[in-house]
Amino acid sequence: MPIATVNPANGELIRSYDALGEEETERRITAAHTTFQQYRTTPFEQRAAWLNRAADLLDEDRDTIARTMTLEMGKPVTAARAEAAKCAKAMRWYAANAERLLADEHPDPADVTDSGASRALVRYRPLGVVLAVMPWNFPLWQVIRFAAPALMAGNVGLLKHASNVPQTALYLEDLFHRAGFPAGCFRTLLIGSGAVDAVLRDPRVAAATLTGSEPAGRAVASTAGDEVKKTVLELGGSDPYVVLPSADVEKAAATAVTARVQNNGQSCIAAKRFIVHAEVYDTFAEHFTAGMRALTVGDPLEESTDVGPLSSDQGRTDLEELVDDAVERGATVLCGGGRPDKLGGGLENGWFYSPTVLAGITPAMRIHREETFGPVATLYRVADLDEAVHLANDTPFGLSSNVWTRDAGEQERCARDLEAGGVFFNGMTASHPALPFGGIKRSGYGRELAGHGIREFCNATTLWYG
Ligand code: NAP
Repeated sequence: MPIATVNPANGELIRSYDALGEEETERRITAAHTTFQQYRTTPFEQRAAWLNRAADLLDEDRDTIARTMTLEMGKPVTAARAEAAKCAKAMRWYAANAERLLADEHPDPADVTDSGASRALVRYRPLGVVLAVMPWNFPLWQVIRFAAPALMAGNVGLLKHASNVPQTALYLEDLFHRAGFPAGCFRTLLIGSGAVDAVLRDPRVAAATLTGSEPAGRAVASTAGDEVKKTVLELGGSDPYVVLPSADVEKAAATAVTARVQNNGQSCIAAKRFIVHAEVYDTFAEHFTAGMRALTVGDPLEESTDVGPLSSDQGRTDLEELVDDAVERGATVLCGGGRPDKLGGGLENGWFYSPTVLAGITPAMRIHREETFGPVATLYRVADLDEAVHLANDTPFGLSSNVWTRDAGEQERCARDLEAGGVFFNGMTASHPALPFGGIKRSGYGRELAGHGIREFCNATTLWYG
């Protein structure tokens, strides 16, 4: 894939970049490793001051970086601004909380006296240079939710961002530099995916985190496994959105629209499979379909746009193939089902796809098992909670899940039985700095955010005193 900014709204090449050569890549790894030796000894207050400064700078830059993100990957500019604001919030949260989250842990002396210790404790120390392989869909947020805790823990970061968001990748390097972090603390490597293996195998690189597709995760985890290096994987998802009879069905339908089309439908934690109890199915389907049909598809730079283009022509082709396969095998199209017409102003060359609702899904359809990365929803009618739970779990993925019910017993059942990294009741899944985020099954392993996230790339060191 070329490293370039191509506007998904009209297909125009805005700027392309040469990939870093091996020598420059090597220089940056050296700089990162050398920086780490000093940086790991800096006090929390100093790291927090730099990170808070980065948050202030990001707030000042919000409009310009939002526009850059929209031009690179097509998200509505209103959502891009919100993403930048969320990043600043997460940076401030980690600046304020990292020292507490990484405080020494003191086991009960009574538990360890038989080890011969006069005292023993656990100290969280940084691992070193962490390679972050990141996707384009939340080009700031995916990076910040790695970088903020990693830098606060005393690690340093090397970013290999997706090839279609090079300007955002370079912006991030510049942001941390301007905020005062020592050069080498956070560098962007403009390299293709084929160059990742060599970086990861470098003995000075301690660990890797990857957010992206399953094939990319498998490739990076295989290399890391071969090198015995820690990884965190945040991969795809096909989150269920279960609606049961006690729910506020109209509210569930309105929220379902946002949950499905956020980020033009290209979010790992977007609700993708809508599993609705027969008692409320017709009402839900009517309101949900009306909401999807009413969305404004258009230029993502316009404030009024709800749904912009997909990030790539290939992404749209993949989505079209999934929908076409389902329709050929008998799915019913309740709205959408193809490319929008009547998009003028050069947008006819953009990679748009209409918000789509499909009903009558069967296990024979690819869309039943594969991730839909675009504004396409699948609707299922179920007879009871047992069937809903079974269907919700009938997927290779296990990222998050959503359940609409006011019945405490049903909530407890879902909290126990849904195979996912999160269960969100009467609302939609969203990440938050203070709550752990991540999946199980083919959605990956490890956690980001909260205390769990900051400890992923730490050496939990046992200190034992005789
Ligand atoms: P992708 O193609 O896997 O790319 C993600 C990153 O991995 C990019 O930087 C890419 O570089 C790199 N990459 C691709 N193949 C690689 C390989 N064989 N070895 C090393 N690096 C490789 O994914 P995407 O299309 O950008 O993102 C969509 C996927 O990400 C979806 O499945 C989505 O659900 C998932 N996602 C998950 C989360 C989560 O938190 N769980 C969040 C967001 C997205 P190039 O761009 O140079 O190819």
